[in-house]
Amino acid sequence: MMNCKEAIRLMSEEMDRDLAGSDRFALRLHKLICVGCRNYHKQLTFLRQACQQPLAADDITPPPPI
Ligand SMILES: [Zn+2]
Repeated sequence: MMNCKEAIRLMSEEMDRDLAGSDRFALRLHKLICVGCRNYHKQLTFLRQACQQPLAADDITPPPPI
């Protein structure tokens, strides 16, 4: 069985490239039984989406005039 360290490594790899079928399967299995890694994956996905979202114009504070 895959350990958490391995699972976390695969999760970050998965963000950048498609995993091999066996890795993907092992990771999915690990997330089924491991709450910690399931939560970690949720956070990772959330953070990634947050980073990719373009900033709304309202959120941008113009630099103060010099
Ligand atoms: Zn785990």
